[in-house]
This record gives sequence, C-alpha cells and structure tokens, in this order.
Amino acid sequence: MKLNELNKIVEHYSTTDPMPVLFIGHGNPMNAIEENEFTKGWAETAKSLPRPNAILCVSAHWETDGTFVTAMDKPPTIHDFGGFPQSLFDVQYPAPGSPSLAKDVKDGITDVPIGLNTDWGLDHGAWVVASRLYPKADIPIIQLSLNYGKSAQWHYDLAKELAFLRRKGVLIIGSGNMVHNLGVLNWKDDKPFDWAVDANETMKKLITTHDYQSLINYKTLGSAVQMAIPTPEHYLPLIYTLALQGDKENITLFNDKTVMGSIAMTCLKIS
Ligand code: ZN
Repeated sequence: MKLNELNKIVEHYSTTDPMPVLFIGHGNPMNAIEENEFTKGWAETAKSLPRPNAILCVSAHWETDGTFVTAMDKPPTIHDFGGFPQSLFDVQYPAPGSPSLAKDVKDGITDVPIGLNTDWGLDHGAWVVASRLYPKADIPIIQLSLNYGKSAQWHYDLAKELAFLRRKGVLIIGSGNMVHNLGVLNWKDDKPFDWAVDANETMKKLITTHDYQSLINYKTLGSAVQMAIPTPEHYLPLIYTLALQGDKENITLFNDKTVMGSIAMTCLKIS
C-alpha cells in the first residue's frame, strides 16, 4: 500500500478525546446582541473547550415530521421571531455548513432514517448561541431537527447514537430552556414563580444524581414540572445532551438563573 493511501485511511479513522457536550438555555434572542451575565457565561464556557472541528446543534426551534440534518454549504441565518429591534434582524452568522458531516450523521445513525435538508439553515436557537460561543463564525455548523411526533425516550435513544461524533471533535449543543413557559411570563421583573424554582431545582437534582429515567418520564414529575414544560421542544434538547454523558464524565452547571418568572437559563457542560 502506498504511503498516501495509508495516510488517508489513518486520517479517516483518526479520533480525539470526546468533545464536551453543552446544553444551553438560550432565552431571549436579544442575547445575540446584549452583553449580560448569560452571554458572559457562554463565552467563558467556550474558552474552556478544545476547539471543535464542527458543531451539531439540536435546537428547540426546528421541529419536523421525521428527522433531518442541514446539509447545505452556507446555512442562512434565520430570524425566526417577531417584535425585536431591527439591529437584531441585521445580525448575520455566516459560519459554513458541512455537507460531509451531515452525511456522516445520516450514515452513522442506523435506527432512525435521517434526511438531508437543504432549505433550513440556522434558526435563532442555533445562531444566537453559536455567535456568542464562536463569534468569528469560522467553525462549520449543522442542525439536527426535533421529530415532533416522538417521545422523550425516543429522543434519548436517538441521541445516544450521536456519541461517535464526539470523537471526531464535533461539539454537540442542545439549545432550549429547561423551564420555558411563555404563556405566563412575568413582565414586571425577573422574580421567578415558585413553581419555576421548584421545577428548576427538581431537574437539577435529577441531573446531578444521574436519574435520567425520571427526566425522560418528565410527565410524572408533578405540577411544577408540568408548568415548566407546557410543550416539549425547549426541554428535549436537554434530553439529547444528557444521553451523551459518558460513564466517567462530570456535569458542570452554569447560568443557573430564571428570567421573566418562567424561563430558566440554566446550562450545563458534560466533560
Ligand atoms: Zn427558544
């Protein structure tokens, strides 16, 4: 075998230590352009990580019938919100996509068919967070959609199949909010509702004691957690993140604060 052929094979199978995994409570889209304690926490966390080869983001804001990965060279920045200043709509996050990574995800997941998508891009769950973690927009990024017809257990099982990406230096980010109830926001101040505090504490305790089955069965966790998860899309990215924890890995919580009464900004890093 010629040396260059051998090198190609070695390169193909080269692995790294598992890249850490993040769950980011993304909150208000204004976090893209405001400096605050949360954006500071995100930026500091990014500095604590090895530089990723690429990012895969599971965002609360891309729900589909079926499961898809974005597979375009240049994912557009999607401003999927209303009622914000023009300066937020002016923000672009021109990070490249990665059709080859999208194909790796499609080929690497065997239990569930994965479609290659070319008409989404980066929704604000992805670009708001990525733009604060990696403002130079020089790391390729793809999104994996949330199949809205499926249970938390189904998502947990699918997420486990993504683990191989960590050894390819891919940073997997779940982007949502553990406590997220827009129907009852407190517009006066950030004082959290009692149920929001209860739900956040319950979830943190289950996370730190590794009781993930209870988090998967979140519908049985009582009324505070029901208020925290009126719909599952902001919660499920947490389930993806937890599914990726290795046996000897630790969880670090940060940005543990609730805003507008009913949105927990709590984030975690698995490493
Ligand atoms: Zn959101």
